[in-house]
Amino acid sequence: MAPACGASKDAGGSASSATSSSTGSGGGSGSCALAANTTATSTVTNGCARRTRDTNACQAARKAQGLGGAWLEFSCRVTLTKTSTSVQAVSDSQPDHPSSYFATSNNCYEAYKTSFPNPNLIAAQSLTVSVPLTPTTTKTNMGLGFVGVAVNGVAIFDNQAAPGDDIFLEAGSFDRCGGHPQQQGQYHYHGEPYAISFDDAALIGVLRDGYFVYGRRDADQSLPTLDASGGHTGTTADSPTPVYHYHLNQQTSTGATTAGQKQWFLTTGTYHGTPL
Ligand SMILES: [Zn+2]
Repeated sequence: MAPACGASKDAGGSASSATSSSTGSGGGSGSCALAANTTATSTVTNGCARRTRDTNACQAARKAQGLGGAWLEFSCRVTLTKTSTSVQAVSDSQPDHPSSYFATSNNCYEAYKTSFPNPNLIAAQSLTVSVPLTPTTTKTNMGLGFVGVAVNGVAIFDNQAAPGDDIFLEAGSFDRCGGHPQQQGQYHYHGEPYAISFDDAALIGVLRDGYFVYGRRDADQSLPTLDASGGHTGTTADSPTPVYHYHLNQQTSTGATTAGQKQWFLTTGTYHGTPL
């Protein structure tokens, strides 16, 4: 299992170096290959463009496996394999959008000055997430490591930093699009991923217990009332039948140095069900 964000102190804490710079070169001379089959839209948040993802190349194969609904929205960079009881998603966890955490020589690098140092650089991973086709309703605390995968193949982590560290402080190390790499270079999102969603009802990904996670809003644009796991039962753009699903949820810091600060997170630290 990949180390937890917290266990590896992914955001550093060493004030000696920051990987991002406002005076960077702007990347290599070519285009970012990871962003192939995406189109940047005019919705830009924090300098990060929301992207649409062209999934034509993998739609037929997915449907032939019996996959439908939300699964058809996952980028073709995510390899999906269905069994009788589960869906396995495999990706390299690299973002399909620019980041200040790529090496400056990488075509996907973009300059950005974060407020909190993180000395790590993005490295390709072998991320495998298997989720149950029929989720349970046995609430489970999130342990170490990734807790889900986003539609673009990036790992989803929970709402915790390393013991003793403050995730609200570490949020200052997120890049323009809301992610950062941990010590082994695994890029991940804890919060709102602006290249996928901003204050909307977009599908963001799936958590390891098999429930999907959406943006702040329901499909009718209302702000849902969420339970302690950050979800509720209702219809979604992918399901006309009411189903349990998670949403981005806003949390308020009780930390010593960040008390009162608010952040949107993809999890509350508790699964509604049980991971495989
Ligand atoms: Zn909802």
